Amino acid sequence: MTAAIHSLIDGLGDIPVITKPQLIRQKSRDHYWYSPILRERLEHVAADLVVCPRDEADVVAALAACYVKGVPVTARGAGTGNFGQSMPVRGGVVLDMTALDRVLEIAPGRVRVQAGAIMSDLDRACRTVSRQELRIHPSSWTSASIGGFVAGGSMGVGSVAYGLLRDPGNVLSARIVTMEATPRVLLLEGEDVQKVNHAYGTNGIITEVEMPLAPARDWEECVVAFPDLGEALRFAQGLAERVDLPKKLLSVIGAPVPERYLPGFDGLLADGPHVVLIMAAADAMAGIEACVRAAGRRFAYRLGAFERRPKPILRLYEYAWNHTVLQALKQDSSITYLQTLFPPPNHLDLIERTTARFGDEMAMHVEFIWFNGAPAALGLQLLHYTTPERVQAIIDELEAEGCPVFNPHAETLEEGGMKQIDREQLAFKREADPDGLLNPGKMLGWDDPGYDGKPRAFYLYPKRQPAALEADPPA
Ligand code: FAD
Repeated sequence: MTAAIHSLIDGLGDIPVITKPQLIRQKSRDHYWYSPILRERLEHVAADLVVCPRDEADVVAALAACYVKGVPVTARGAGTGNFGQSMPVRGGVVLDMTALDRVLEIAPGRVRVQAGAIMSDLDRACRTVSRQELRIHPSSWTSASIGGFVAGGSMGVGSVAYGLLRDPGNVLSARIVTMEATPRVLLLEGEDVQKVNHAYGTNGIITEVEMPLAPARDWEECVVAFPDLGEALRFAQGLAERVDLPKKLLSVIGAPVPERYLPGFDGLLADGPHVVLIMAAADAMAGIEACVRAAGRRFAYRLGAFERRPKPILRLYEYAWNHTVLQALKQDSSITYLQTLFPPPNHLDLIERTTARFGDEMAMHVEFIWFNGAPAALGLQLLHYTTPERVQAIIDELEAEGCPVFNPHAETLEEGGMKQIDREQLAFKREADPDGLLNPGKMLGWDDPGYDGKPRAFYLYPKRQPAALEADPPA
């Protein structure tokens, strides 16, 4: 450890820190290994120190101490992001937010909570206290933090009804700490929340968020199997349009994924190798059943809200969203994935064409989401990985067809979900992080203002950066 880091620790007073290299390395990682490209590029990344604030005052003190020394700070919730978002690519401090986990206020239609709270704990608290629940959560619900979801996630279970996390009203407010000589605490409300919503913590550390709540429902789970992918897609589209039947999850997973990779599914495929996964409100199940019958199908699996889950079937969302990739990776380490928007109104055609075009190289998996007032499909297709060039060629082909790909093999905001520089977030960074010390390397608009949305062949992160840290030889 360098003398600069020793001096930083002195400046932190009694704020807890982690100095064990092995633990620092662990806390410097997220689920970046979903991508073989990121795995190779970010393998060397490690912080110099992990700082564990206990409350907002600690966050303010920690940022002030780091600012004085020019030390970068990368926030971390649970570290379940898939794109290296929480990895400190320029070293410095990882700010572990997990001790800020208090639920502060539950009111009709909203909850105010500290950023480090784990979403399943938060949801349980809301259900117990007020029979309400989060509207959207990632499939990593049991492990991910609410602050990490707002700063680093995008959509998930619930998006079939409520859309993207960036859609208006899906995050009500955020309290943030700026990275300055005297850090300020700001409350961003309404549209202002978008300044930090999906900004990877590059322009403020979120200490609290206020999220909208929906009345809690009893959710049932069911699976319908189809012999033909097109038929499964049309069935799911019909259900997505039925806004009178409240749903939380509507996924289509094409062959050979269910049979090959989804644990417990081998007994569910008598009617066909493609499946539709549905989580629907208990009082919508009669309507769902009528739709299944009208399609000439039957439930391959159905679990009531209060029934015991048969082994080895998991919670249904643990086969969906990014969990599909996880289940596949457990069986086959050559698998990776893409995230592709199949925009309406031709989304079903686009999905079928894509499936036929890439054959065995790509297996289809889409999540139905509510997008601009209509159902759309977000593909999280499984890909047999060969080379970075082949991944890029596939992305180019999909985009040429009119299907934007949110590249999960890139760690910057722009190359991943945004596709372009978010001028508002960039302007806010100039205000809230004038020296560019928050999660450096993740906002291309800051490092490369001329970024034009074209894929970069190569983006070099210096292994180690700030002069303050480089000055001392290792102790
Ligand atoms: P981290 O990974 O710790 O951080 C994410 C980003 O937010 C980083 O850039 C970090 O620097 C920043 N950050 C964290 N806390 C703060 C803070 N307090 N202030 C400022 N910045 C902060 N994502 C989805 O969107 N939908 C899904 O359905 C989904 N399913 C997943 C399934 C699996 C199996 C896995 C491994 C991942 C999945 N993800 C999904 C990705 C990820 O789990 C979620 O986005 C999750 O909400 C991230 O929360 P986290 O606490 O792990 O954040």
